[in-house]
Amino acid sequence: MIAGRAARLRAAVAGNVLTALLVLSTVPTLALSGHGARAAGRAPAPTTPLAPPAASAPAGAPAPGKAGAPGESGTPGKAGPTTESGTPGKPGVPGKPGVPAALYRIVGCRSRGAIAYRSGPHLREVALSFDDGPAADTPAFVSMLERARARATFFMIGAQVNSGYRSLMLRELRDGDVLGDHTYSHPDLTRTGGVREQLLRTLGVIRAVSGYAPCVFRPPYGAVDSSVVQTARSLALATVLWNVDPADWARPGTSAIVQRVLAQVQPGSIILSHDGGGPRGQTLAAYPEIIGALRARGYRIVTIPELLGFHPVYRPCVKLCSAIGVPRSKLGRGAIIERAP
Ligand SMILES: [Zn+2]
Repeated sequence: MIAGRAARLRAAVAGNVLTALLVLSTVPTLALSGHGARAAGRAPAPTTPLAPPAASAPAGAPAPGKAGAPGESGTPGKAGPTTESGTPGKPGVPGKPGVPAALYRIVGCRSRGAIAYRSGPHLREVALSFDDGPAADTPAFVSMLERARARATFFMIGAQVNSGYRSLMLRELRDGDVLGDHTYSHPDLTRTGGVREQLLRTLGVIRAVSGYAPCVFRPPYGAVDSSVVQTARSLALATVLWNVDPADWARPGTSAIVQRVLAQVQPGSIILSHDGGGPRGQTLAAYPEIIGALRARGYRIVTIPELLGFHPVYRPCVKLCSAIGVPRSKLGRGAIIERAP
C-alpha cells in the first residue's frame, strides 16, 4: 500500500533537476528560489467545519519501545508494514560482540482522515508546532528543544528548503522532530489555484533534502476548504490546524506568548507558533517556560503525528546511519518498518 502510494508520489514529482540528493531519496530536487520571507499573517477562521479527531488515536500512549508491532489495532499498521526482511542479519542483537545491531531510519509517516484536525484526543498530551521555516532562527529552536528534551512539528515552506538546511533537517529527524508541508510559497490556498502543485513541490524538496516524506500539512493562514483538504489527502497528507494561537508572529512580548499559550491550552491541544517569517527571539525565549509549565500540569509533549495516532515509517538504514539511524528499541510508537527499496 505504502509502496504504491510512494510510487505514485514519485511518479508525480519526477522529472526535474537533480542536484545533491540523498541516496535514499528518489525524488529529484526541484529548482529553488531563494526568497520566501513573508509577513506572517493572522489566520482567518477556517472555512471548513472541523470534524473531531480520529477515533482510533492512541489510547494510553504505548511506550516507544514497542515499535515494530504496530501499536493501535484497526489502524493501517497491518496494511503495509513488513518486518525487516530484506536486511542482512537479525536486527539488534544487543550486547553480542561482533553482531552489529541493525539500524533504522525514519522515512516518513502515515496519516489518515479526510478532515482538518484542530486538536487531538482528550488526553494529557499536547503538540508544539512551528511554522514558516526553515529560517535563520530554526537552529536555535532545535537546540532549545534538545535542551528541554522536547519534540515538535516543523511546518516548512518549500521555497525555503534547500541543501544548506540538510544537516539541520537530519538533526531534527534524529531528535524525533517531525517535518510538515506548509506549501511552497505560502499562498492562501482557498484564493489561489495550484493547490496540488504547492503541496507536491514542497513534499518533493523536503524529501530530496532530508529523505523524509511528510504526512502532515498546514494550510497558510489556516485557510482551508473541503477541496484543499481532499487534495492534501490525495497526496497522503493530513490537514492540521491548531486550537492554541498566541499570535507570536506579532511579537507581543515573551511573557504574553507564555501567558496566552498557558491560558488556551487543554488536553489534546495543538499549539501554533513560528520559527520563521521574521525574528523569532520572543517565541524562542517563551518556550522553555511554556514546556516547563505544561509538564508541571502533567502534559506529555508529543509530535502532531503522535497526537493524532499516525504511524512513523522506518526503513533499514543503509546510508547516513551514524547521523540518523536508530536501533529497533528506539523506534517511535506504532512504528511501521518498510522493506528497503
Ligand atoms: Zn505560515
